[in-house]
Amino acid sequence: MGWAIALHGGAGDIPRSLPPERRQPREEALRHCLHVGVQALQANMPPLDVVELVVRELENIPHFNAGKGSVLTNNGTVEMEASIMDGNTMKCGAVSGLTTVVNAVSLARLVMEKTPHIYLAFDGAEEFARQQGVEMVDSSHFITAENIERLQQAKEANRVQIDYTQPIQNDTKKETPFANGDSQIGTVGCVAVDSHGNLASATSTGGLVNKMVGRIGDTPIIGAGTYANELCAVSATGKGESIIRGTVARDVAALMEFKGLSLIEAANCVVHERTPKGTVGLVAVSAAGEVAMSYNTTGMFRASATEDGFSEIAIWPAAKIE
Ligand code: ASP
Repeated sequence: MGWAIALHGGAGDIPRSLPPERRQPREEALRHCLHVGVQALQANMPPLDVVELVVRELENIPHFNAGKGSVLTNNGTVEMEASIMDGNTMKCGAVSGLTTVVNAVSLARLVMEKTPHIYLAFDGAEEFARQQGVEMVDSSHFITAENIERLQQAKEANRVQIDYTQPIQNDTKKETPFANGDSQIGTVGCVAVDSHGNLASATSTGGLVNKMVGRIGDTPIIGAGTYANELCAVSATGKGESIIRGTVARDVAALMEFKGLSLIEAANCVVHERTPKGTVGLVAVSAAGEVAMSYNTTGMFRASATEDGFSEIAIWPAAKIE
């Protein structure tokens, strides 16, 4: 039994034609964030701190759909959401509808630790952020030129989407690849376990391109986008509505608990047998230090490492970068 960590930068229909100038910065970001997480685990940082640290790093990188780089609502605004869960204590925290908070995952942790509640949203969450003195900025900080273009294309196609080939609405519409071949950016998440079997999970997102103002996805919903208990920690990505319906993160833990499946069997069962194709990906670790990174989309930006020296950064199947 040793430590293990896995992180993702979103699942979706990631074209293999993704140009190097679009692919490489994300690979670099995954490598950097994996390194940050591995160093923290090696320094005996508790997994809850590790997942918060790594997700904060990912939120600060505009190549991913969380924090700076969050995709836009149908009003051209950002509404960020995140959650975090500690497997040991089953304590968890979640936030939605953030427009000015730099690191949503850290506010979720404060909800978990400083309030009698689990989930704060919109004005109440922003007010709580002010009270706690977390870093807040003008909401224009989060809006990138790429996301203005993504929203424009989504509006033209009348779609709500994680990308341009997996429409949620108007499935009959012709697919419209993003002009620069970069149609996919994703939610971020991290799961970690230490050598004592302590587990934690965190997930953060801007949601879906062209989502309705007020829409809440799976990311902040405990048991859907994020879950951790004494058996495993799970962070999901993909179409929030499918992930919520499938209680994806909790189902992985439930299959281990009630059916005695291994982490990998449970993750594969949820992703390949219980969730519609093209809708979900997840990263998970078990108390024994196993890693699962399953997805039923074309690809998933992902990275993992274990104490015994295994390390991987990948986007598509059999396209291992490291
Ligand atoms: N699951 C996120 C949502 O539906 C999107 C993503 O994972 O990219 O809000």
